[in-house]
Amino acid sequence: MRYIDQINLKDKRVFIRVDFNVPMDEGGNITDDTRIKAHLPTINYAIEKGAKVIIGSHLGRPKGKRSEAFSLKACAKRLSELLGRDVLFIDDCIGEKVLKAVSEIKSSDVILLENLRFYIGEEKNDPEFAKELAKLCDVYVDDAFAVSHRKAASNTAITEFVEVCVAGFLLKNEITYFNKAMKEPVRPLIAIIGGAKVSDKIGVLETLVEKVNKLIVGGGMAFTFLKALGYEVGNSICEENMLDMAKGIMEKAKTRGVKFYLPVDCVVAEKATNDAVVKNCPVQEIPKGWMGLDIGPATVTLFSEAIQDAKTIIWNGPMGMFELDPFSRGTFAMVFYVANSHALTIVGGGDTDTAVHKAGESDKISYISTGGGAFLELLEGKTLPAIEALERFGG
Ligand code: AMP
Repeated sequence: MRYIDQINLKDKRVFIRVDFNVPMDEGGNITDDTRIKAHLPTINYAIEKGAKVIIGSHLGRPKGKRSEAFSLKACAKRLSELLGRDVLFIDDCIGEKVLKAVSEIKSSDVILLENLRFYIGEEKNDPEFAKELAKLCDVYVDDAFAVSHRKAASNTAITEFVEVCVAGFLLKNEITYFNKAMKEPVRPLIAIIGGAKVSDKIGVLETLVEKVNKLIVGGGMAFTFLKALGYEVGNSICEENMLDMAKGIMEKAKTRGVKFYLPVDCVVAEKATNDAVVKNCPVQEIPKGWMGLDIGPATVTLFSEAIQDAKTIIWNGPMGMFELDPFSRGTFAMVFYVANSHALTIVGGGDTDTAVHKAGESDKISYISTGGGAFLELLEGKTLPAIEALERFGG
């Protein structure tokens, strides 16, 4: 794979595929511009090198239909503010109008195209749609890590029609940090996995147990493991059909000498609401009709001690239902310990990212992945189609 800083961009028409899939309120205002900011190093670099910058992105799921609610217009305004220069917004992403605009821009000018998903061909990885996009540029730059696990015309098929295809700095960072953590980690390598269900992350757990030195499981999924060990878990989220899988992971950990950690206590409530009556209890004593919604203080102590000697930590999934205040402490405490450890720390997944930001510790994490699904698929050891396409057709 080649990267944007290995090629000549001067006066070239450079199409940068980004992920401006930002959250918006009902009024169409961007409520969090983190995803736009994540691409600034790549965009600014292209501007500095005198490229004619053409940016393409998706927003939401308009399913091949034009819709004001999914327009990228607000992103053009925000991008313009962030870059401190004009950004020309074109209300289409292929066709005569776009070709004309692209032919008229000067070096270092920036165009943002309308939502790629207004065309059904985008999500279908349609070569005809990709050819239309390819007509707009001399160089293709993929910077949209968060969608690289899904084949789309703008991240996979397009690489067959543009001569020079490279990765931008965001994609480069994602790959570099992932490799540091998983391919050649400085050990001990510790994985912390949480979130709601075992079934969503079974592939990840199976891969991790082969690679890490310690595996820490928290969040809702821990109750399936506890049940598999014979504990009563009350009304806690528990997947009966995953008990054998959970046992298998624990056995694998044992045979490989991987130290495996589960919560020893939890925060329980009868209902998952902000005004619920809550108490802490050992996992052996979850009352009938109550559910575990966060890790308890003894578990925080245990997990924080377990990561003390870590040289590399990889974390995906919250330790509890952290969106609700009474069940957020365990996750936030773990954010604090991970952020203040001396390890290389890599956090991935939408919810874990949100928790780290909410806790105000994001600056102390070595790398926060911009990919939820893409990050999990990398962790599972899968090859991501967009990355594979760049490697094959990098040119
Ligand atoms: P995931 O997308 O799999 O990482 O799961 C994240 C979701 O898991 C969050 O919305 C949390 O509220 C939820 N979650 C974490 N711990 C628990 C728990 N003990 N019980 C129910 N839901 C939980």
